[in-house]
Amino acid sequence: MPESLIQRTLVLLKPDAVQRGIMGNLITRFENAGLKIVGMKMVWVDDAFSKKHYSAHVEKPFYKGLEEFITFGPLVALAIEGIEAIETIRKMVGSTEPKKALPGTIRGDFAHHSYPYADKKGIAIKNLIHASDSIESANKELNLWFTSEELHTYKTVHELHVF
Ligand code: ATP
Ligand code: MG
Repeated sequence: MPESLIQRTLVLLKPDAVQRGIMGNLITRFENAGLKIVGMKMVWVDDAFSKKHYSAHVEKPFYKGLEEFITFGPLVALAIEGIEAIETIRKMVGSTEPKKALPGTIRGDFAHHSYPYADKKGIAIKNLIHASDSIESANKELNLWFTSEELHTYKTVHELHVF
């Protein structure tokens, strides 16, 4: 397996996941798939940091609600490593709108929020989790959220039995 197919990506368990007490459930899904957690911390981000993380969305009409959502309480940031991990984890997370997300995905199994409901209330889509959407954004986001000392290199049994 060429080195370049082993990727690292950023996952956030958003404040709604923390406050609903499903952090363990969500982390277990990644562990069950044989993915490796190489960084993990609880952070309560402020408005300025939200603007950095969601820089692509700052000008969009839903940004104000998104900032309120992501700064509402502490979240858990994870750096996860695995084979083509960026695409695999986006698949496990499911569509942005939980109503559309398929059963079996995190957003489809643990939430059911919809765009019309979020629009009507002027809030962000409450969808529990963030995952980087490309190699470029994964690199940018991992640099934003973690120092190199906070990212770890170690062997798991999966490297014998799953990889
Ligand atoms: P994330 O970046 O959090 O992993 P995503 O990549 O599935 O989610 P994006 O388009 O990047 O979706 O949007 C970022 C976040 O902004 C979404 O997860 C959601 O919480 C919120 N959001 C996106 N579009 C809307 C919208 N039209 N109305 C309300 N909230 C939205
Ligand atoms: Mg996104």
